[in-house]
Amino acid sequence: MTRLVLLGPPGAGKGTQAKLLSDRLGVPAISTGDIFRANVAAETDLGTTVKEYLDAGKYVPDSVTNAMVRDRLQQPDAAGGFILDGYPRTTDQVRELDDMLVETGGKLEHVLEITADTDELVRRLSRRAVEQGRSDDTEDVIRTRQQVYLEQTAPLVEVYSERGLLRSVDGLGEISDVTERLVEALDLPDA
Ligand code: ADP
Repeated sequence: MTRLVLLGPPGAGKGTQAKLLSDRLGVPAISTGDIFRANVAAETDLGTTVKEYLDAGKYVPDSVTNAMVRDRLQQPDAAGGFILDGYPRTTDQVRELDDMLVETGGKLEHVLEITADTDELVRRLSRRAVEQGRSDDTEDVIRTRQQVYLEQTAPLVEVYSERGLLRSVDGLGEISDVTERLVEALDLPDA
C-alpha cells in the first residue's frame, strides 16, 4: 500500500515522475492539473469554472479542488493506494486530505519534495511552452505560478516535515536518475 504525495514547484517534474512511479509502484497517479485541463478541453461545468484560474496561473478555489479530489479518491482504483501530483497545495487542502484519509481509515505514508532552482524551472517551463502550448506556460503566468507556489505551497514542506513524512530529492539531471532517487527515498522493503 503506497499513499504518496509529490510536492515541488511548477516545472520540477512532478507529472513526469508521478507517471513513472505509478508504473513502478502499481498505484494510480492522480494529477489535479491534468484533471482540470481535461475538463477545460471537454468544456464540462467544472472546466468552465476553473479555466480562468488555470489561464491566470492562480489556484482554483479550495472548495472546488477538494470536492474534485474527494470524488477521485473514492474511485475503486485508488483503494489500494495513490500518488497525488499537485494536491495538496494549500494548508486548507492538507486538512481536507487528512479528513478524507481518516474517513477511509488510511494514512499518508510519504511526501516527496522534488527540488530545482528557479532558473532551471523557468527554462523547463519555457521549453514546454514551445513543445505543448499550455495556456499557463507564458512568461508572465510562469512567474505568477512560481510566486503562488512560494506563498501558498512552500509552507507545506514544513508541515509534512514536522510530521516526519517528508523527504527531499534533487530534481536536476536525467529523468531516470531522479526516479531512482525518489524510489530510494521511499525506502521500500523490496525495492
Ligand atoms: P504546475 O505544477 O506545472 O503548476 P499543474 O498541472 O499541477 O501545473 O497545475 C496547473 C494549474 O491547475 C494550477 O496552476 C492551478 O490553476 C490548478 N491546480 C492544480 N492543482 C491545484 C490545487 N491543488 N489547488 C488549486 N489549484 C490547482
